[in-house]
Amino acid sequence: MKPTRIELPAIQNWSCHGCSDCCRGQLLITLSPEEQQRLKQQQWTAADGVDPATIMVKAGKGFRLGHQEDGACVFLDPAGRCRIHAKFGEAAKPLACRLYPLVIHPAGRKLVTGLRFSCPSAVANRGQALSEQGREVQKLAALVVPANYNEGSPPPVAAGPPGEWPDFLRFVQWLDTTLAVADAPVALKLMRALHWLRAVEQGGFDQIGGAGADEILGALVQSATRNLATLPQPPEPPSGFGRLFLRMMVVEHARTTTVKDLASPGRYRLQMLWASLRFGLAGSRTPALRPGLKRVRFADIEQPFGPLPAGAEAMLTRFFRVKIQSLHFCGSAFHGRPLIAGFQNLALLFPVIVWLSRWLAVSAGRAEFTEADVAIAIAMVDYHHGYSADLRARVRLLSQRDDIAKLCAWYGG
Ligand code: SF4
Repeated sequence: MKPTRIELPAIQNWSCHGCSDCCRGQLLITLSPEEQQRLKQQQWTAADGVDPATIMVKAGKGFRLGHQEDGACVFLDPAGRCRIHAKFGEAAKPLACRLYPLVIHPAGRKLVTGLRFSCPSAVANRGQALSEQGREVQKLAALVVPANYNEGSPPPVAAGPPGEWPDFLRFVQWLDTTLAVADAPVALKLMRALHWLRAVEQGGFDQIGGAGADEILGALVQSATRNLATLPQPPEPPSGFGRLFLRMMVVEHARTTTVKDLASPGRYRLQMLWASLRFGLAGSRTPALRPGLKRVRFADIEQPFGPLPAGAEAMLTRFFRVKIQSLHFCGSAFHGRPLIAGFQNLALLFPVIVWLSRWLAVSAGRAEFTEADVAIAIAMVDYHHGYSADLRARVRLLSQRDDIAKLCAWYGG
């Protein structure tokens, strides 16, 4: 592929710090036929610390990388380094390993990029500015993006047909502008975005384009800012359905699916069914779902926790802005959803993250959460984002009842 225009989020830093978190059993690396061939040619033996019989495992119609007893990738050495990387160099690794946590999406004549915040370095904003890594990203893009990437249409904005990329990207730009405001809590910024997107839907503005569109969208954003100057105090409680839906989303995003779970699918399904039932009923205590998320009282999580720590506000704002800038919430990156429906789903991640942060805090015996709790919760949530179940009908119902904004306000401060 010839060099193409790539946009990298200026607000995000990232470098691999070798934590090997991504190689320890949560990610399943599917292998292309070429990668299978390359691994065979590398001629791994027991002397390298790798049992050749366990390198590849049948997965559906293809193969994936095998894992060690403790769930780590078959190529991870005891010091936490990749044996393929050490012996043959970075380019010899499977493509999924080389790409993670980077995401690359077509946006008309350009590509937009972002990160999965399931990587601890991404959520902590550690490392080199992503905007300085264009050359490396360009090389990876050439491997994963089809040559005709610029021929596709953008996702629709609402229920109508898709328009042109420049008009679609105007909506994305205004979403980012809404989230970029410095002196407002992230819950309020999400509420404002939901507010003006609703006006777009109700006013039939989803098809607007050309020079006049910015004027209309700018006016809608200003109106949302005027109408929602501060977080409502006291916030209006979300409906019973809204709270139930939120708890279901929490279970969905708190779960881990390791190779051990895949080895006993019946036991795993039963465990998740039991957890969903407990969350649906919201009886006295949560089940323990993973290390750090212990069996605690629902009431202790639902009590007021006060505002988010300032660092967590900044982290969440960066998370939502990177998702928006990289289109990691709609279209091919998110179940083919239109921009508005995809953003509604994205906004719902805010109460899920806060709920998980509270659960982490209560599990650790605290009645207030820290920036570190929020970082862990964001990582959990973004591990599933886009892979979790497509709940479009239920999200639509929540939006019709204004429950998404109410949940943001309720858990926002
Ligand atoms: S092949 Fe290397 S980089 Fe990929 S998961 Fe295994 S140890 Fe990690």
